[in-house]
Formats: sequence, C-alpha cells, structure tokens
Amino acid sequence: MSELTQAEKDSLTGALQDRSAETEVQEAAPAKLSAVFPSYARYDISLVKGKGSWVWDDQGNKYLDFMCGLAVTSLGHAPEKVGAKLKAQIDTLWHVSNLFHIPGQDRVAALLTANSCADQVFFCNSGAEANEAAIKLARRYHQKVKGTGRYEVITFEQSFHGRTLATLTATGQQKVKEGFLPLPAGFKTVPLHDLPALKAAISENTAAVMLEMVLAEGGVLEVQQEFLDAVVALCKEHGLLLIVDEVQTGMGRTGKLFAHQHYGIEPDIFTLAKGIASGFPAGVMLGKGYLREAFSPGSHASTFGGTPLAAAVMEATIETMLEDNLAQRAADMGEYLKGLLGDKLVDTPFVKEIRGKGLLIGIECAAPVADIVLAGQKRGLLFVQAGPNVIRLLPNLYVSVDEIHQAVDILSELIHTYANNGKWEAGS
Ligand SMILES: *Cc1c(COP(=O)(O)O)cnc(C)c1O
Repeated sequence: MSELTQAEKDSLTGALQDRSAETEVQEAAPAKLSAVFPSYARYDISLVKGKGSWVWDDQGNKYLDFMCGLAVTSLGHAPEKVGAKLKAQIDTLWHVSNLFHIPGQDRVAALLTANSCADQVFFCNSGAEANEAAIKLARRYHQKVKGTGRYEVITFEQSFHGRTLATLTATGQQKVKEGFLPLPAGFKTVPLHDLPALKAAISENTAAVMLEMVLAEGGVLEVQQEFLDAVVALCKEHGLLLIVDEVQTGMGRTGKLFAHQHYGIEPDIFTLAKGIASGFPAGVMLGKGYLREAFSPGSHASTFGGTPLAAAVMEATIETMLEDNLAQRAADMGEYLKGLLGDKLVDTPFVKEIRGKGLLIGIECAAPVADIVLAGQKRGLLFVQAGPNVIRLLPNLYVSVDEIHQAVDILSELIHTYANNGKWEAGS
C-alpha cells in the first residue's frame, strides 16, 4: 500500500471544510432539493452494486466494505445461496396473511430456538419493531399473566434501541429524542455499570431491564461481566424480565451466535434484526416459554412480519451461518483484525483504545473521527463512527485475511496522517 500523496493529506485535512462548503451550496440551490425527507446526513456517494466484501458506486469506483450497511450484510453482498432461495421463493409465493400458517416461519423459529435459550419467536420487520414487541411482551406478561400491573422498563445511558416513540424513549441518547415530546411514559435510564443507580431506579412498577451486550451505536462499549451478573441477580430478586437487544450484536457478529452467550446468561427476551436476513428487512423477538401466553391471539401483530419471502431469506441466512460456523470465524477474524490494528496503531497517542467483540470493533480516538471516515471513502474503504470519537469496523463474517490487511493499511495511514496534522490537539 502506497503512502498518501500530499494532495490526499491536504484533502484529509480539508475534508471538514469541503463538507461544510457542500452544505452551503445545497442550501443556496433549493431547486436541487431531493423529494426524500432530509432525515439522513447522506454521504456524497451512490452505491449501485455489491459482491462479497466489495461495493461499487455509480461512477465505477470500488470500495472495501467494512460497515456492511451497518452490520446487516454479514454474509457479504448478494450471497449466492441466500439469493437462490429468495429467487425460488419469488417464483412460488410472496405474501400471505399471518392469519394463515406460514411453514417458513416455523422452520426459522425451529432454527433460532434450537440454537438459543429462547422457546418462542415473534416475526416483525426491523430492530425497532423487535424491541417494541419486547417492551409490549414484558408489559403484557406482567399485566395479563402475573396481574401485577407493572410497566416500567429501565435502560442505560448511551444505549440505542430504535426510532419508534417507545424505542427512542428507551434509548439512552438525548439527540434521538429532541423535538418529539411528549415521550411515552414508563421508561427510566441509568448510567451503565452503575449498580446503585440501577437499584435506586427499581420500583414496584418496574417490569424489565433492557440492554445491549455491546453498546454499539453508543461507542462499542462492552458490558462488564460482573455488572451483568448483578443485573441478572437483581432481575431475579425483583421479578423483572431481562431483555437483551441483540439487533446489532446478534447473528454471529460478536463471535458467538448471540452476544449474551459470551456471558453465560439467559435473557427472558432478546431481539434480532440487522444480520438476520442478509439485507432483507426482517426483525425477530424471541422469548422464554413461560412468556407464551402473554402474546395470546390478537395481542400483537404485523402485516409483513415473517412473510414467506422474509422467512426464506432468514432461513437461508441462518443455515449458512451455522453450516460455515461463521460465529467462530467472526471470533477468529476479529482477534486477528484487533491484533493487526494494535500493532499498527500502538505508536500514536491519537488512538486511545481498540475494543469490541468478534467483528464489532471500535477504535476510540482522541478527537472526532468524521473526517477520517470521509477520507476512508476517498481511499476506497467504508466504515462508520460510533459516537463522535470512535471508528467502528463491521466487516462481513467471511472477510479474508488479505482484505483485513488492505483495510488496516488504509486505516493506519489515515489515522497517522490525521494524528500528525496536529489539528486534533487544538480541538480536543
Ligand atoms: C440498529 C439498531 C436498532 C434499530 O434497528 P432498526 O432496524 O433500524 O429499527 C435497535 N437496537 C440496536 C442495538 C441497533 O443497533
């Protein structure tokens, strides 16, 4: 891998100015406004094709994808076995109502329950919906099965649980709540790893505690074993349900099929979405058998949840993951990637910590990393942030050693260049 040219170094240093200049141009030319609501701060790239670890834009530029649509395309882009199953299903049956039995759902449910502590599943279409279903199941269990009337869910600061009104209220980040008042009642948020605060938050109204095993959006923060053990004990003591949000950490991403399996715990409820269907929209909420009667007929529903198309894609994705032992592969490749990053970045004080589990890796830096993300795109490497100062790497679970070397070479150059330009010290 060649050194950065002076022009590239200048462009890295100037990336922020470039972007603000572009924004001004867009604002000055309303005739060019898109008909899509501007709720996403989009990069100036249109991706039009993908295969394996690589994607191409509409200008023919090729990128090594270390974000995977944000932890979604875990089998790589356009995985053939999954595509074949999807095409076969397209020729057979797209959609029927959930008022009928859908055999594909039963096969997916059997695969998921045979490989986890859960006994029951509910199908929906996204991570937020899966978490919404989890919150509803917890409330309904307490209110209809136990007759306790409990409703409150305790969550943690820096968590992310989705963008519906309930799940953004559960989310421990102020920025997703702004302008959406009033928020639904029944949520409390306490600092992560603060056991006294958690104990103080528990009341006779508490129904559940909900958390991620690695707070992914919040900065790739791993939950400590000791804290989680204490949470499990508190849930038991107070009769609370433990909900684990595995929307990003699930499906092999962290080196186990489900991240809670690293900790030897069994949540009452956990949720899946992103990696479950290789890019087809799907979510799943899974629970223990004793929760079954809480979701009695008519209690919860989704028009599209577990549609025959979604079920076919989920089934093929899960089967592939199990056959190729991709969770273990994520563990091995994650160790390799972290080791290589450590070797290459150990010399720069700009990098504070390299952390994460499996192929959910965070590089915490001493200053905001948005410019480095943009510079990576110019060098043909896609990755994302997790909060302002953390670079997040989410390659697909088949990523090769060679691709890991390519990515680390580019990242190392970008980070060293940025660290040496001195600007971050002034701003930090
Ligand atoms: C992405 C994400 C969600 C929301 O999923 P959507 O499919 O965007 O609704 C919820 N929880 C976690 C941990 C996530 O990473």
